[in-house]
Amino acid sequence: MNPVAFIEDKRDGRESTPSEIGEFVRLAQKGEVADYQLAAWLMAVFFRGMTRREVKAFTEALSTSGRVVRFPPDIFPVDKHSTGGVGDKTSLVVVPLAAACGVPVAKLSGRGLGFTGGTVDKLESIPGFSAHLELERFIDQVRSVGCAISGHSGDLAPAEALFYELRDVTGTIPSIPLITSSIVSKKMAGGSRAFVFDVKCGSGAFMTDEASALELSENLVGLSASLGRSAMALVTDMSQPLGRWVGNAAEVAEAVEVLLQKGPVDVRELSLRLAASMVRLGDRAGSLDEGYRLVESALETGRAYDKFREMVRAQGGDLDGFISRAAGGGHLAGKARVIKAGKSGFVTRCDARAAGETLRILGGGRLTRKDAVDHGAALEVLKKRGDRVSRDEPLARVFFSCHESRWDEARPLLEGAFEIGEETAAPALVIGSVGP
Ligand code: URA
Repeated sequence: MNPVAFIEDKRDGRESTPSEIGEFVRLAQKGEVADYQLAAWLMAVFFRGMTRREVKAFTEALSTSGRVVRFPPDIFPVDKHSTGGVGDKTSLVVVPLAAACGVPVAKLSGRGLGFTGGTVDKLESIPGFSAHLELERFIDQVRSVGCAISGHSGDLAPAEALFYELRDVTGTIPSIPLITSSIVSKKMAGGSRAFVFDVKCGSGAFMTDEASALELSENLVGLSASLGRSAMALVTDMSQPLGRWVGNAAEVAEAVEVLLQKGPVDVRELSLRLAASMVRLGDRAGSLDEGYRLVESALETGRAYDKFREMVRAQGGDLDGFISRAAGGGHLAGKARVIKAGKSGFVTRCDARAAGETLRILGGGRLTRKDAVDHGAALEVLKKRGDRVSRDEPLARVFFSCHESRWDEARPLLEGAFEIGEETAAPALVIGSVGP
């Protein structure tokens, strides 16, 4: 193939054939297409888009570029994917919830990047927890425990990682066809038979407006269906952080609270909605309402919590040790600071992106995939949109162990995250949904 002609086709808006796309990905993976040519093609896609046929071919080429997990035919695993947000610890709740209802869950997760958190970083706050399972062990655990959460192994969809890295440095991340193929290719390689997507919408998400979040949801569900996977998507709010805590260990502690029925209402409700969709797709319920009742009962009877304990134990984690440390606040970094309201009124904005950026500056997130994170760095959101607040009342508290100068840098950002004004309602948690 001639990569220059292939790029020119995309530049001029001509549709490429599936075999041309497959060949381009294969050559790229072998290192036979220069990075500048890959980058030029990505930018052409960014402006020209891709047809459905092109997206499907690109996804298939990415998903089969390495190993593909194959579950035995008697296991019908369901995976859940969030497009990424701030304070989003729902995977830690949803996975055991669905598994406690008999739906095998094979969850492949990522690390946090930029201002968004990642499930792998969160789970690594539990002493001993092994977040990178060999594929055979991953499959065995899904069979024996009913669920597993593992970091994406490098041999699944390696071509996707190559394209993603280039997108990251060429301004081509926010392209709906590229995001769709990136997400679905990894899910396909992970071997699950059905997917539930949580498409975040708002300042703390890739998709900042409802129309593009809905468009991405439709694309994710439609592409999955064209590849023989049933899928549903919820479009959910990410204008403000989810729950009360942002930060790796703090979010694990909050997820445990939700599993013990003590956590914040928004995390609980979103987790139940997502898990209900998984139970529906996993054929354990005839409707979403029935699925919701099943998962609610799994939460209320403690079965979901027991399943979480079982999963953490199977992956080597010491949950009791984590919980007893967290009870005395030992999971949080040692320095604490608060910001306070400058006037009385109602919180009209509590910006998710600024909250995520604050945590990253304080060491709780990373800028490049290789950076280390401080699991104890945390942000406690004390007031959210719609809450009444009095002058001098604390709005948020941060915990960090890095140099004080980082707090000097983060402080104006966090203060700017809040706006106080007239009475206003809390944002809707679920904005829309796509799927059967
Ligand atoms: N998440 C992904 O996995 N891929 C993207 O392209 C964007 C978000």
